[in-house]
Amino acid sequence: MKTRIFFSILLTTVFTLLVASGAVIAMLYGQISTDMQYELLTEARYVARALNSGLRDLADIGRDAPHRITLIAADGRVLYDNSANTGDMASHDNRPEVRAALATGEGESSRLSDTLRLRTFYAAVRLQSGEVVRLASMTRGPLGLLTSSIPGIVGVLLLAIVAALYVARRLTRSLMEPVNAINLDDPLSNDTYDELSPLLLRLDHQNRRIIDQLKELTAKQRELDCITGQMAEGLIVIGSGKTILFANRSARSLFDALNRQDVASLHFMEVCRASGWLEAIEGAFAGRKEETRLSQRGRVYQLTASPAGEQEGKASAVILFLVDVTEREQAESMRREFAANVSHELKTPLTSIMGYAELLERGLARSEDVQGFAGRIRSEAARLLELIRDVITLSQLDEQDLRNRFTRVDLRALCDQVVDELAAKAEQHQVTLHCEGPSREVSGLKETLHELLFNLCDNAIVYNRPEGQVTVTVGGTEQSPMLTVADTGVGIPPEHQARIFERFYRVDASRSRADSGSTPGTGGGSGLGLAIVKHAARLHGARIELESRVGKGTTLRVIWPELPAGERDAAQASAAAGQ
Ligand code: ADP
Repeated sequence: MKTRIFFSILLTTVFTLLVASGAVIAMLYGQISTDMQYELLTEARYVARALNSGLRDLADIGRDAPHRITLIAADGRVLYDNSANTGDMASHDNRPEVRAALATGEGESSRLSDTLRLRTFYAAVRLQSGEVVRLASMTRGPLGLLTSSIPGIVGVLLLAIVAALYVARRLTRSLMEPVNAINLDDPLSNDTYDELSPLLLRLDHQNRRIIDQLKELTAKQRELDCITGQMAEGLIVIGSGKTILFANRSARSLFDALNRQDVASLHFMEVCRASGWLEAIEGAFAGRKEETRLSQRGRVYQLTASPAGEQEGKASAVILFLVDVTEREQAESMRREFAANVSHELKTPLTSIMGYAELLERGLARSEDVQGFAGRIRSEAARLLELIRDVITLSQLDEQDLRNRFTRVDLRALCDQVVDELAAKAEQHQVTLHCEGPSREVSGLKETLHELLFNLCDNAIVYNRPEGQVTVTVGGTEQSPMLTVADTGVGIPPEHQARIFERFYRVDASRSRADSGSTPGTGGGSGLGLAIVKHAARLHGARIELESRVGKGTTLRVIWPELPAGERDAAQASAAAGQ
C-alpha cells in the first residue's frame, strides 16, 4: 500500500513537473525572443539615426557594441562587420531582414543554428544613403534553454522523490492507523474518517450475522449434547482434518484428552494410542466400516468406526460408536471356560467306564472282580449324572427367571428334611449331624433352597474328621432370617477362601466329595456345589458369609437382609437379572 501511494505521488509529481517545465520554458523562450527582437530593433534605429546624422566611422560604435553590427550596401555587399572580415562574407541581399529593410525601411528575423541550441536575432534599418545597417544578437535556442534547465529539473525531481516518500509514509500511516485501531466487536463505536464509514457499516452487519449464526449453532450443539448426553454408548465424530468434531458425555468420560473444554483442534491420535483405535479410524477414512475391541479404564468396548460423507472411496468424516461389552465379554469367557471344564470333567468318569466295560466285554475280568467292576461303572456313571445334573441346575439358575415360581418356604422344615436325607452319610463318615432353631419362613424356590442347604451340609460332612460334628442352625429374625452350617472339619486355607465359590474350583481335588463316598443322586463331587450355593443365595436376595480356620472347622452363613417386603422382591429381581 505504502509503495503504491509512493509511486502514485511520484508519477503525478514527475508528470506535473515535466509538463510545467515544458510550458515555462516555452513561455520564457517566447517572451525572451520578443524582448530581444524589440531591443535589437530599437538599438538598430539608434545606430541608423547616428549614421544618418553624419557619423561616418561605424567602427567607433561597433568596437564596443554588445551586438554584432553589419553595414550592407543596397546590392547586398557587406561594407562593414564588427565581428568578421568583410572580405570573406557573401552577399547579404537574400537575407530576409535585409530584404525587408530595403523594401520597407525596417526588417527583422531570427534563425536557429543546426543543433537548435542557439538562435540569432536580426534587426535591419535602411539608411538615407540606401545602405542597410543590421544588428544581430545570439541567444540560447529552445534546446539550449532546456539543456541549461536540466540540473534544476533533476534537483526538483530528487526533491519530489523525497517529498513523495515522506508524504506516502505520512499518508499511509494516517490511513492505516485508524483502520488498525478499529474496534471490531463494535464497529459503529469507532470515531474515524468518513471514508471508512461504509466499511464499518458492513463490519457491523457481518458481526450481527455471525452472532446470530453462533446463537443458532450453540442451540443446536446444546440440543445434540442433550440427546447424546443421555446415551450410555460413546459417540465421537472425527472431521476431515482428522480432528475431533464432537464427543458425547460417555465418550468424554472414557478418554482423558476428551475431557478438555475445547476438543475441536484435537487430533484423533492424541485421544488414544491403541493400535485397534488407530487402525479402525484409518480404515474408516479409507471408506471401510471397521469393528474392533478396545480396553479402556478396565472395561472392554466394542468400537465401530463408520465412514461418512464418502467421495471417491474416501470418507470426509468418521463416526465412532463405543459400546460397553465388558459383561458380555466376561460371560462369553466364562461360558468358554465352563464348556472346557465340563468336557474335562466328563472325560475322566467316561474313560474309567470305558476301561471297565472293555475288560468285561473281552472277558478279561475274573469272575470275582466282575461285581466290583460293575460297581465302579455304576458309581462313575452316577458321578457323570451328578455332574450333568449340577450343570443343568446352574444353567437354570443362570438363565431362567425363577422368581415367578417363588412360594413361602419354612427353613426349619427344610433343615429337618436335609438332615434326614444325609443321616446315613453322616453316620458313614462318623459325623454327628443335627439341626436346631425356630421356624423361619422366606419367599423362595423350595428345590433350590434344598439344593443350597444340601450342598452346604454335604460339604460339612465330607470335609470333616471322624467323630466330628455338623450343626445346622435356623436363626436370625423374622425380617432377616439366617441359616448357619458349622462343622468341625479340615477348614479352608485363607488363600482359597475367595475362590471356592467359583465353578469347578477345588481346594484339593483328591479330597473332593466324589472320592469321599458322595451318595449318588445327592449333588456332590462335581466342584459345582458351592457355585450352585452362591447362585441360589443370589436368586433369593441373600448373602453368604464364610468363616474358616484350618484344622478347626468351617462356618457358612446364608443371611437374608432386613428389607421391607417390596424391596426384598426388587432386590431378588435385580439379583436374578444380574446373574
Ligand atoms: P466339591 O465337589 O469339590 O465339594 P464344592 O464347590 O462343593 O466342590 O466345594 C469347593 C471346594 O471347597 C471343595 O473342593 C473343598 O475343598 C472346599 N470346601 C467346601 N466346603 C468345605 C468345608 N465345609 N470344609 C472344608 N472345605 C470345604
